[in-house]
Amino acid sequence: MKKLKRSCKLIADNNYDEKNGNKSLLLSTFDNEPGYYQEIIHPLLASKHETELIYWLKLTNLIKSKQTCSKRTIGGMCNNAMSWISAKGSGSYQWKCQICPKRKSIKDDSIFSGLSCSFKDAIRIILAWCKSYHVDSVSNMLGVNNSTVEELYIRSASVAERYMTSNIKEWQIGGPGIIVLVDTYPEGCANTSLTRMSRPILCLSEVKTMPQKYWLEALDRYSNLDTLSYLKQHILRIVQTIVRPGSILITPHTSTLCCYSDFEQLQVLYPIIVTTEELAKHNTDQQNVFTNLETIWKEVLNICEEAQFYCTSYIDLFLRSRMWALVYGNESFERLLYQISSMQ
Ligand SMILES: [Zn+2]
Repeated sequence: MKKLKRSCKLIADNNYDEKNGNKSLLLSTFDNEPGYYQEIIHPLLASKHETELIYWLKLTNLIKSKQTCSKRTIGGMCNNAMSWISAKGSGSYQWKCQICPKRKSIKDDSIFSGLSCSFKDAIRIILAWCKSYHVDSVSNMLGVNNSTVEELYIRSASVAERYMTSNIKEWQIGGPGIIVLVDTYPEGCANTSLTRMSRPILCLSEVKTMPQKYWLEALDRYSNLDTLSYLKQHILRIVQTIVRPGSILITPHTSTLCCYSDFEQLQVLYPIIVTTEELAKHNTDQQNVFTNLETIWKEVLNICEEAQFYCTSYIDLFLRSRMWALVYGNESFERLLYQISSMQ
């Protein structure tokens, strides 16, 4: 991998902060998202359609369609059915027990639980997560607290992560005769000026698939030989989970975290393992392996660079969001809403 200049995406977003006058322009651009959002969701976000939106959320199970009363009583719990009543002055609803005075928010026990923003804004934030918009620009666009956007990003990413973990086969790459590149960020980059600041990321990528298929996983930093040894074993486990047997692995000859010799023990699963240096021996005037690798890693490298802007705990979830968008493309928003409703 060759290190690229830091992605301009975040810088452009931050500039936007100074131009709040363009807020409605960005929102109108954002709302132009075609497909499911434009056809199904956007009409529900229009002014005076708040009730329609709430009933749609209930119908699609994005909020609870039933609640029982959790008020403690002498004998245990009230447990009676609750029903919707109009919430005074808000144009919204709340749950009220049919027997006792206990009330609950209609956001309770859903992905919106405890969030101070409106349903309209929350739905837009979920779309923004699917499109990998930066938290600050979404916060500015909607006039919603940064912390609220972050919280909903974390919840959305957690839903995606749970689905990915339990359906890992959908996310595997490679297969018999398919070349898979293995490297780590930032060590695999030619220019390592930010190395000490960066959190390492394992990068696995198929060659010659469009759109490019890859798996990115944030790794812990290592401080001594014990943690380094543990990390190397961890990388081998990830490769065995994600890369299908029979794939042709291309690894660096020397690398702190994933060098050729580390992978030799996996030759039962991957009979052909080649180093990038070995490939480079076949360079010609027309074909240069390192130039080709730069092209293949370009998108992955941009994502790894962008990930470094986030706090350590969010990097994993950020990488999940990018892989979710990669695999599901235009369906990523609809699929995420479906997973949210399935997990209620
Ligand atoms: Zn009750």
